[in-house]
Amino acid sequence: MPGYMVITFVCANCGKMGMANPELVMSIPCRREGRQFVPDPDGQREPICRDCAVQALERIRSGDPKLTSVSPLLRQPDYLARAYDQPEEVE
Ligand SMILES: [Zn+2]
Repeated sequence: MPGYMVITFVCANCGKMGMANPELVMSIPCRREGRQFVPDPDGQREPICRDCAVQALERIRSGDPKLTSVSPLLRQPDYLARAYDQPEEVE
């Protein structure tokens, strides 16, 4: 068995299905309205997909002042690969 966990989820930003490492996946605060998620600073954090994470990372790295509480993890260059690409640590 592979030594890692993966969660599948509906992206809180775009609604597509996503897969990621549950401990590393990027999430945004939002709330559920019916079957959709709406961004809400007071909401609970819900995971977002890789495509949305790429866009969010670009905003984080360009210094978007709204994204203040960013985990140092997200600033690591290999974050996306670790969070969203299947690890192949079989050695
Ligand atoms: Zn998405």
